[in-house]
Amino acid sequence: MEPGRTIEEPKLTIDLVPRRFWRSSLARALPPVQWADCRAWAFDQADERCTVCGSVTGLQCDEVWSFEEWVEGPMRVLTGLRALCYPCHAVKHFGRTLHRGDADAAVKHLMRVNGWSRREVHVHISAAFAVFDQRNQVSWAGTDLTWLRDTLGIDATLS
Ligand SMILES: [Zn+2]
Repeated sequence: MEPGRTIEEPKLTIDLVPRRFWRSSLARALPPVQWADCRAWAFDQADERCTVCGSVTGLQCDEVWSFEEWVEGPMRVLTGLRALCYPCHAVKHFGRTLHRGDADAAVKHLMRVNGWSRREVHVHISAAFAVFDQRNQVSWAGTDLTWLRDTLGIDATLS
């Protein structure tokens, strides 16, 4: 590393959803009117811009999850909703993007947004898949949606 250069979190990262939760999302589970409220909330919070790159086109609502160790066992916890443009969202869900054959566009977007070389992107992809493999070994206790109830007043459960 160059002297004086600080370690920064990359702006955009790949977050692969463990297989166990592939069919379990708010977008699928909530009634359309409630999901529309979620989207509107996220877009409003972000001033109608992508929270990563600032783009104003093709906004989508991303569910932000953390994976935590609780007394009940390993838990998937909703920690927020945020506006992402389509290219940033495609990077987040890189596994699905790869499956669709759009990996190259996602790699280029990741290079541009983070200022990374292709090699740095490939190191990040390997790390993301290592985390994915680890999380697929876990026996998940469930999903916590307290944030959704507290923030938007929406009571929901996800299996
Ligand atoms: Zn973006």
